Parts: sequence; C-alpha cells; structure tokens
Amino acid sequence: MSTPSKLYEGKAKIVYATKNLQEYLTYFKDDATAFNALKKGTIMGKGEINCTISSALLNYLGSKGIKTHFLAQKSEREMLVKAVQIIPLEVVVRNIAAGSLCKQTTLPEGQKLPFPLVEFYLKNDDLGDPLLTVDRLNIMNIATVEQINQLKDNALKINQYLIEFFGSCDITLVDFKLEFGLDFEGNLLLADEISPDTCRLWDNLEQDTEKRVLDKDRFRRDLGKVESAYQQVQKRVLTQIEKLKNT
Ligand code: UDP
Repeated sequence: MSTPSKLYEGKAKIVYATKNLQEYLTYFKDDATAFNALKKGTIMGKGEINCTISSALLNYLGSKGIKTHFLAQKSEREMLVKAVQIIPLEVVVRNIAAGSLCKQTTLPEGQKLPFPLVEFYLKNDDLGDPLLTVDRLNIMNIATVEQINQLKDNALKINQYLIEFFGSCDITLVDFKLEFGLDFEGNLLLADEISPDTCRLWDNLEQDTEKRVLDKDRFRRDLGKVESAYQQVQKRVLTQIEKLKNT
C-alpha cells in the first residue's frame, strides 16, 4: 500500500490527498494549542471526539441545506471531505461576549449581545490572526464583496441552526469560528471543523461559571477536566442526533 501524501499539517489536523483529486482525507490529532501556539499540549482522545462531533454537526447542517465539505467519517479520526481551497479567514460568530471580544472592548464576559456579531480575522499566525475590517478585506483581495456577503449570510444561518441544536443539548453556544473554502467549481463550502476546539460552549445544567465551560477554554485557562468536558459534548451531540433520527 502506498503512503498517502500529506498536503498540509496544521495545529490540530493533517490533510492528505486521495486517489480522487476532488477529495481529501483529514486526520484529527490530539495536539492542542492556544494563544497563537504559545501554549501547547495534548488532550487525550480529542482527535476522535472532534472528528465525531464535527462529522455529526456538518452532516446535520448539510441536512438543513448548508453546503459543506463533509462527505463521510471514515474512521474515528478520519473525515473524507470535498477538496477545497481554504479562504484565509477565520469567520467568528458571537452571541455572548467572551474571549478576545472582552479583551478588546469594555463588554464584560457573559453579556448577551443585542445581535449575533460576525467578525473576520486573517488566518496568519505570523501576524497573530488580526481582526479585519470589510474595507481591509476588499483591499487585500481575499474575497469579493459578493463572497463577503455570502460568508456573513452563511455564518448567520449556521449560527441559528447551531444555537437551536446545542440548545436541545442543554448547551449555550457562546461563540465559534468557521472556515470556508472554494471547490473546483468555485462553490463556497463550509470547511474545517465544528468542535469544542472551535466553539465556546457553556453547560446550561451548571451554574458555576468555571464548571459550566465545556470547550477549549478548559485547556486555555487550565481549568482541568478537559477530556471529560469534550466527552460530555460528544455524548450530548450524539444523543440529540439519534433523537432527531427517530422523529
Ligand atoms: N477560535 C478558533 N481558532 C482561532 C481563534 C478562535 O477556533 O484561531 C474560536 C474560539 O474557540 C472561540 C471563537 O473562535 O470559540 C472566538 O475566539 P476569540 O476571538 O475570543 O479568541 P480566543 O480568545 O479564544 O483566542
């Protein structure tokens, strides 16, 4: 058997080419980084959990009419996806103030925002993923005005579906990051992953502000019990998917 050829290795995933030019295989690692990779570690079993949660959520969003790169979960850590060229943007959607929004503004953590805030950050580690303005985006030719509007519309739709889905899991979707790509035909597809690495998720069944954290903030802020939080999200997501199948 020939060794699959690695196209790209990121902080949490490896992307391999497949025999089919239009499909890639993504492998989810246990490696975790935070603060632009200044903090590094391992979350045991994270790869399997994030691959499973992402597959379930991308498939769910697909069933709602969102165009995604997801094709199939091939193994516990492997996802088959449509080959896309990633747009070098992190599209962040926020429902509640947390993280960098609180560091850069006077908004206190936990404040509900009057409307979902969509932000674009440049995917560039050397520059520390800076927040962009729409004009900067235009001038850099990263996306056309039409594509930017499409990204925002998609992000807001996805937010509504995910708020509702996580709500039925007794989880509040605080904020999350999306990445999009263009396939061979130039279609805009939701790509990358949706997981506790890329979302802030608060447990509605827990009042304590530290205990309720079910996402990568447990790793970022050394809150402990990282693995069990990720497992909890997986359990609730899969239970809800099963429930939906039976209705
Ligand atoms: N996020 C991500 N990758 C990044 C930066 C942010 O997945 O490189 C996610 C993060 O987990 C959170 C949301 O995007 O759910 C907003 O992150 P924020 O801008 O607050 O940055 P942070 O303080 O988390 O670095």
